[in-house]
Parts: sequence; C-alpha cells; structure tokens
Amino acid sequence: MKIIISEFMDTAAVDQLRSGFEVVYDPALVDRPDDLRAAVAGAQGLIVRNRTQVGGELLAAAGGLKVVGRLGVGLDNIDTKVCTDRGIKVIPATGANSRAVAEYVIASAMMLLRGGFLASADVLRGDWPRTRLSEGRESGGKTLGLVGFGGIGRLAAGLAQGLGFTVIAYDPGIPGSAPVWAETGVRQLPLDELLAQSDVVSLHVPLIESTRNLFDADTLAKMRPGAILINTARGGIVDESALADALRAGRLGGAALDVFAQEPLKAGNAFADAPNLILTPHIAGVTAESNQRVSQMIADEVARFLKA
Ligand code: NAD
Repeated sequence: MKIIISEFMDTAAVDQLRSGFEVVYDPALVDRPDDLRAAVAGAQGLIVRNRTQVGGELLAAAGGLKVVGRLGVGLDNIDTKVCTDRGIKVIPATGANSRAVAEYVIASAMMLLRGGFLASADVLRGDWPRTRLSEGRESGGKTLGLVGFGGIGRLAAGLAQGLGFTVIAYDPGIPGSAPVWAETGVRQLPLDELLAQSDVVSLHVPLIESTRNLFDADTLAKMRPGAILINTARGGIVDESALADALRAGRLGGAALDVFAQEPLKAGNAFADAPNLILTPHIAGVTAESNQRVSQMIADEVARFLKA
C-alpha cells in the first residue's frame, strides 16, 4: 500500500511508515498541485498539514484513497463531507500540538503587554525609547478572555492562571452546568461581556460558518481600549483591515497573529505600518517536541487504520 506525504513530517515517523508501506515523502508536493494529483491517484493514504487543499478536485483523482492523516488539528483545508461520502477516514492529531499553541499565547501576551520586547530595531539604530516604553504592563491582575474553551483554550487558561491572570471564556458549545468551569476556575461569559472585561483576548475556535469574520469591525470596537488580540486559530475569523485600522488608530494595544486569511501574506496586505504587531508564519503549534508528537501519532494511526 502507498502513502503520500505532501508537507513536512518528522523523519523518524516517516521512516517508521517506510518499514510497512511504500512512502512518497515530498514536503514540496503541496506547491505542485498537478504532481500531487498524479501521486494520490495510486495511493491508499495521504498525510497533510494545513496547506494541502484536500477538496473535490484532489479527491476526484484519488480513487483508492482510504485515509487522510492531518498533522495538526483544524480540518478547514479538508472537505470532510466528500471524505465521509466516499468512505475516506480523516484522522487529526487531536491534542498533540496544543501545548505549543498555549505557550505561544502566553509568550505573545506577555511580550505585547510589556511592549519593550518590540524595541530591538530602535535600540539597534541607537534610539533609547525608555520613556515611550515606561508604560509596559505586567500579567498579574490582568484578565485573559478566551474565545473557545476546548483543548487549547483550557491549556492556555492553566498557564495564564499560574502567572496571575484572571481567565474568562466564551464558548456556547459548553453548557454552563458543565463541570469544566468549576474544575478550571474559569468563568463563562457572553462574548460582549468577555470583550468588555479582557485585557487580552485569545481565539481558540475552529473556522466554521459561525466563526467566519466573528472579529469584524463591530466586535473589535467592543474590546477594551489598549486591549491585545491573539489569533492562533484561523485567519478567516478576524477582519484583517479592521484590525490594522484599530492598531493604527491606537485603539487596540497590540496583536499577535499566527494565521491569516491568505497564507503566505501577500505584499500590499492590510498590516503595513500597523504598530505593536507580532506576525508569525502559522507556527504556533509547531515546535521540535510537537512535531515529533504530531508525526508519531499520525504515523501510528494511519498505519493502524490501513492494516486493519
Ligand atoms: P477544540 O475543538 O478542542 O475546541 C474548540 C472550541 O471552540 C470548542 O469547545 C467549541 O465548542 C468552541 N466553539 C465552536 N464554535 C464557537 C463559537 N462560535 N464561539 C465560541 N466557541 C466556539 O479545538 P482546539 O484544539 O482548542 O483548537 C482550536 C483551533 O486552533 C483549531 O480549530 C485550529 O483551527 C487552531 N489551531 C491552530 C494551530 C496553529 O499552529 N496556529 C495549531 C492547532 C490548532
């Protein structure tokens, strides 16, 4: 049986798959759609990250495909309906990169609250902006508002509470009576109240119809003046132009964005000259450790499924 791997995967996990299957490991295949279609034509397994679009066109070329392994979570690049209709199993690496994302949230929240870490270019130039940076904020006593309180939100909550944040969350998918609220000491609030109370707002929802453009100009306007927005979830959830405007106007205090409506960001994007921004190339969930965990989990589960 043949497995195609179209994006990067930990090499130990690739070697493990090679011991039981014919494996095509080509992390650049994602950028060569014609070659990818030709490769999946004879394959039973396909392993992707978030860039390979596993939609009708690719699936139409994949007559013998039985399983798609997703090196991460978030299935918005996979047409799960077509997969279900065709009897193709989709396996995400649930939980395996959550710690990496939660740590990214804490690191970027502290950097943006403090501000001074963004001064490297000034200091290199010989500037010494101590007065401008004298208003840096500490995490103790601040409020972190989580939009989505699933696996990543809960891990981020625990780390933040250890630093002295009060944590509140909005998640209509979790009933108020669920034990998780008492167990974590996180208070559940409607979105508008969460926005009115949070010094830092961090997004942990999937990109689905109810979350697309959830953070538009109106929602952003309900955040506290000087508040910080962190988006490690998906680009389509935040209106990028409205966010850039709020940063330029000084209404919001900063933003950390790991995901974008279009990845990679193109020249001429909305963020030119927007201050207090941390931009990263969709790596919140990727560390040396999480790459190993995610890759091992998918190698094990795809192999188990194909051999069953
Ligand atoms: P999860 O499924 O454990 O939790 C998602 C939560 O969102 C659920 O509790 C659900 O009830 C809630 N939710 C759904 N719709 C909502 C809405 N409209 N408003 C508020 N809450 C809503 O998922 P997770 O593991 O915590 O991951 C969250 C997202 O993070 C993923 O869907 C993925 O897109 C993203 N992610 C990004 C990276 C990265 O590297 N940047 C890595 C991993 C995950």
